[in-house]
Amino acid sequence: MADCVFCKIAAGEIPSKTLFEDELVRVFYDIEPKAPVHWLVIPKAHLSGAADINAENSAVVAHIFEVIAKLTAAEGVKEYRVVTNNGPDAGQSVFHLHFHVLGGGVLGGMA
Ligand code: AMP
Repeated sequence: MADCVFCKIAAGEIPSKTLFEDELVRVFYDIEPKAPVHWLVIPKAHLSGAADINAENSAVVAHIFEVIAKLTAAEGVKEYRVVTNNGPDAGQSVFHLHFHVLGGGVLGGMA
């Protein structure tokens, strides 16, 4: 998508503090962290949000959760939340599917 900021981050056209990438996904630090650990995990292929997930493309979502499990273990983040917002009224501000990984603090009270 031509004017999608996360497509540009996925392609390396906009710099990001990247923790991990492979052919399917990129994991980078949120520019405005809401927790001591705040990563964003995106598929490199554009999907607008969770509502775009279907039988043809859902394998990348399983891969994303495998990557999250490996990275949190490698980084020593034992307790964390994984959040995706679908639609503006749910708090989505970037319309490229992404999963927030939030950890490193007391997160039980977050909605
Ligand atoms: P959401 O509100 O769920 O769509 O989440 C979008 C997230 O992307 C927010 O937490 C922003 O802080 C983050 N964000 C936006 N632009 C960038 C960027 N260039 N690099 C890193 N994080 C970003």
